[in-house]
Amino acid sequence: MTKRVALITGGTGGIGTAVCQELCGQDQLVVAGFLPSESEQAETWRGTMRSKGHAVEIVSGDVSNFDSSRSMVREVETKHGPIEILVNCAGITRDKTLRKMSPDDWQAVIDTNLNGVFNVTRNVVDGMIESGYGRVVNISSVNGQKGQFGQTNYSAAKAGVHGFTMALAQELANKGVTVNTISPGYVDTPMTDVIPEDIKNQIVGAIPIGDVADPSDIARAVGFFCQEQAAYITGANLPVNGGLYMS
Ligand code: NAD
Repeated sequence: MTKRVALITGGTGGIGTAVCQELCGQDQLVVAGFLPSESEQAETWRGTMRSKGHAVEIVSGDVSNFDSSRSMVREVETKHGPIEILVNCAGITRDKTLRKMSPDDWQAVIDTNLNGVFNVTRNVVDGMIESGYGRVVNISSVNGQKGQFGQTNYSAAKAGVHGFTMALAQELANKGVTVNTISPGYVDTPMTDVIPEDIKNQIVGAIPIGDVADPSDIARAVGFFCQEQAAYITGANLPVNGGLYMS
């Protein structure tokens, strides 16, 4: 099997780490993107990953900024070759009811979670078309499918991500490039650590499977879309949510 260059934005985060491990397991050349302000933590992260046998590389880039995303992509291409797998996983929350939400809370979430998908994919896509091969996986959320109290910004961004997926999937369908979305439910990561315990208990109570996901549950689904054999699946939105969307 060909070893392909895979860029995972938010690669050092909770889900990103599991995705990096999954793609290392597929023997891809895995590059984890991290925020420029977190370079020290990213170096430590790489050391830990390598000590566990995952030969990851790291690259700095702010996905909310087009020029920074372009430099990140160029750096990966120069060092490792064309990116053939892209997992858009970087994301943030700034939860508040709309009545309390500032323009900054709105803008920051849209800039990272939605514009970030454009900023990175726009810089990767020409290379994929040239290779005649590509796998793009965008990490959305169950809350982009059903909305969530206190998350107008996040729900809007994540719903937008799947609109992006479906449109780009059509543009690239005859070019060997698939574009798909994964919509996780609640996953045990630093992002959900900040949810107060009583709210967490309410959330878990509403999940038919009765627990939050482990990051590896999401990573396995990402890995599935990234395989060569998944060539006939494009424009899909795969929920990985323990049945939450039904409840
Ligand atoms: P996390 O906070 O552990 O990881 C997010 C990563 O994104 C961090 O490493 C962070 O540094 C990085 N990041 C943030 N802003 C960035 C920027 N501007 N440029 C580059 N990197 C940036 O969170 P996670 O739970 O691993 O989330 C990963 C993805 O999964 C996110 O898109 C999130 O919205 C989505 N998601 C998470 C859950 C959940 O329950 N944890 C559920 C559904 C969807």
